[in-house]
Amino acid sequence: MKNYDVLIVGGGIMAASVAYHLREQGYSGSIGIFEKDAMYEYSSTPRSEGGIRQTFSTEINIKMSQYSFNMYEKFEQEMALDGDETLIDFKKNGYLYLLNEMSLPIFEDILKIHRKLNVKSEYWTPAELKERYPDFCVEDLAGAVFDPDAGNADPYSVLQAYNRHNKRRDVDYMYEEVDTILREGDRVTGVRLANGEVYHANIVVNAAGAWSGELSDKLALPIPVKPLRRQLYTIDMTERFSQTIPFTFDPTGLHFRTEGDRYVVGWAREDAYGYNFKLNRSFFEEEIWPVLASRSPLFEQLKMERGWAGLYDYNTADQNAVIGEHPELTGYYIITGFSGHGFQHAPAAGNGLAELIHYGKYETIDLHPLRVERFKEKDLVLETAVY
Ligand SMILES: Cc1cc2nc3c(=O)[nH]c(=O)nc-3n(C[C@H](O)[C@H](O)[C@H](O)COP(=O)(O)OP(=O)(O)OC[C@H]3O[C@@H](n4cnc5c(N)ncnc54)[C@H](O)[C@@H]3O)c2cc1C
Repeated sequence: MKNYDVLIVGGGIMAASVAYHLREQGYSGSIGIFEKDAMYEYSSTPRSEGGIRQTFSTEINIKMSQYSFNMYEKFEQEMALDGDETLIDFKKNGYLYLLNEMSLPIFEDILKIHRKLNVKSEYWTPAELKERYPDFCVEDLAGAVFDPDAGNADPYSVLQAYNRHNKRRDVDYMYEEVDTILREGDRVTGVRLANGEVYHANIVVNAAGAWSGELSDKLALPIPVKPLRRQLYTIDMTERFSQTIPFTFDPTGLHFRTEGDRYVVGWAREDAYGYNFKLNRSFFEEEIWPVLASRSPLFEQLKMERGWAGLYDYNTADQNAVIGEHPELTGYYIITGFSGHGFQHAPAAGNGLAELIHYGKYETIDLHPLRVERFKEKDLVLETAVY
């Protein structure tokens, strides 16, 4: 079959969620997904840390977080298929933000917004923090904010669960590379694959993640999304913390958390844009380790065991999702640019874009603030809590 109603380029969590929600909403048109990386080796979804939080500063991101958190809480029950369990390992250990004099006022503003939108985050004094985590050094801190409705889950399991449901509901998965999206005048007409084959569709979704900017460039419709390397490291320590450590952000931006009987550490620092999957070990030794050791003496004696690098679909304009139909090309839909919060927002984003495709409007959460045209309109979504 070479004619589809909807074709999706990219087979990561965004594509899977859009297709899943189209079917959930009763959409009966034909859907095809193209994924060039059949093993998902370089896709961002399985390389993601799987963090889920409510701690955003904009209403749109908080609403997407609340919706997605509820979905992930019931995901294992709702996605069970044929009696097989769907395990996504959602650990609700919370997010903890350590604040200095500079970041405290930013979080005071965030807490005000949270009160308004019923987010349960709470402020702790340095003494309260020390009481809970006696091994932390708190002398340089002005306090902390704890977000209890947060934690992390396994993104690859979520992706596979969506995929299983989609395949059961006649969504075709084709493990081929799309060379370009095709158009005639101001309408999308389909895609051409790298092997030269052409598939027709009046609706094509760009869900190509870190590769989405490049794909849109080929249509001469640039979007501000670039691949940006992020690195994560697993460590063990001679003496471990006696408590489970939540997803904890140091004021520097570095974060660490308990993962099983180890700890995962990362630091979203400046890096060059590009498809770079190389892990920089000296970055850990020279830059990360000293900061960790200054936060707790337990980090002085550690061993970095392994690590990995993956790509953010990084929105260079405002670090937020880009969702909607392109204003200059009918039938060309975009879902990308999540810049480090894509896994957690995938249920809300996929549901929203499916509504736009299926009903022509948003029904659950109004995702209009994330529209493609906001860059030209200079109506950016300015989020103070992006990592
Ligand atoms: C190290 C790291 C840590 C992260 N931590 C978190 C976190 O804690 N919490 C959170 O919410 N988010 C996190 N993220 C972000 C999150 O993983 C991404 O935002 C999300 O996975 C993006 O999903 P996607 O489907 O758009 O992209 P992907 O999963 O990359 O899927 C896009 C797919 O498109 C395919 N593709 C591209 N071009 C083509 C083409 N031309 N033809 C066919 N196929 C194509 C690619 O092979 C890829 O599989 C993290 C990301 C990384 C890298």
